[in-house]
Amino acid sequence: MNKYRDYDNYLKEYPTEDGYFGKYGGNYLEDPELIKAFQEYADGYNTIAQSAQFINELRRIRKDFQGRPTPVYHCQNLSNLLGRTQIYLKREDLNHTGAHKLNHCMGEGLLAKYMGKKKLIAETGAGQHGVALATAAAYFGMECDIYMGEVDIAKQAPNVTRMKVLGANVIPVSFGLKTLKEAVDAAFMAYSREYKDAIYCIGTAAGPHPFPLMVRDFQYCIGAEAREQFREMTGHMPDQVAACVGGGSNAIGMFTPWLADPVELVGVEPLGRGPKLGDHAASITYGAEGVMHGFNSTMLADENGDPAPVYSNASGLDYPSVGPEHALLHDMGRIRYTTCCDEDAIEALFLLSRHEGIIPAIESSHALAYAIREARTGKTGSILVNLSGRGDKDLDYVVERYGDGPEFLAMMEERRKNG
Ligand SMILES: *Cc1c(COP(=O)(O)O)cnc(C)c1O
Repeated sequence: MNKYRDYDNYLKEYPTEDGYFGKYGGNYLEDPELIKAFQEYADGYNTIAQSAQFINELRRIRKDFQGRPTPVYHCQNLSNLLGRTQIYLKREDLNHTGAHKLNHCMGEGLLAKYMGKKKLIAETGAGQHGVALATAAAYFGMECDIYMGEVDIAKQAPNVTRMKVLGANVIPVSFGLKTLKEAVDAAFMAYSREYKDAIYCIGTAAGPHPFPLMVRDFQYCIGAEAREQFREMTGHMPDQVAACVGGGSNAIGMFTPWLADPVELVGVEPLGRGPKLGDHAASITYGAEGVMHGFNSTMLADENGDPAPVYSNASGLDYPSVGPEHALLHDMGRIRYTTCCDEDAIEALFLLSRHEGIIPAIESSHALAYAIREARTGKTGSILVNLSGRGDKDLDYVVERYGDGPEFLAMMEERRKNG
């Protein structure tokens, strides 16, 4: 018996036509204009994006503009330092703009072009999605409206500058707490008004149908490339594949191609400062079923059932819910989810920087920290980590908060020795 064979037909079965992954997913929006807009979007995705012309054009963009395929790399120094586990990276940090988000932004932009739209609309929190989408808009010659809370605009000046230089309009959102949640509301309102000429571009594998399906498909290239590359490099499959999970886009793109293979898949959620509600953003590990932002999934809620405050030192991971497909694959037991705290991620960031010459994003460092934890048990075998992005964007924050490496690494070493 091979339990993985059950997944041969998985991609045909999930999601259903109305966007359900088991009981998760769907579309719970109430605004009738938005429902119309999403229907048009789903129809466009189901027809246009499956055509040979669309697929070929996207393939060309991936190669010539994004620089794909990104390599798989064997971390020999780090593996030797830690023990016997062989650690490999899928280098999404080498994707154009320095992270995986451009994979779905280019797909969304191309779909907008085929649907005859002139503008891309989105919200952004830390600004990573805004920068990737502004890049896509420039490529396709489209207008780009990025809604951003005033508080985030003040905190994320370099990304605001990048978006503006790329030609996007950064529209300040000044109601409520003036952060990501209000920016989402403002972007949805704009989409409801403007959907005849514009499309809304989600930043992760969450949101109402068809977003979780569409983003998974546009991110599928990560895992598909890695599976070929790893086998070519080693002659076998990795024992484990790991990725960090915020909304879940880099992880679902990395994992989906391996579902029917005898490979353990591990999603790593941010434990932040610890397991108390408000100190982390581990929505699968500590969450419960609930509807938020128009879809059903597993979420972190406060006592009123509203999205709870969340925290992680990786701004790309602090989201109180997760893509519905992760909720399903967790229930099915196909993906194992674990957590990594702020400090373990920073240790991983410093170790990879000093021993391999690669500075990873704090988000990606969460997945790498899991591989380091496994290696320290003395296990043999191999782990392929999705290095979702590069860490240049994080360095000012890291150095101010944790220093530039040696003292922090010595402190962590000491802590481990004392158990
Ligand atoms: C945004 C981001 C993430 C988290 O988003 P997912 O949708 O969970 O992949 C992870 N890594 C990097 C580098 C990011 O920019």
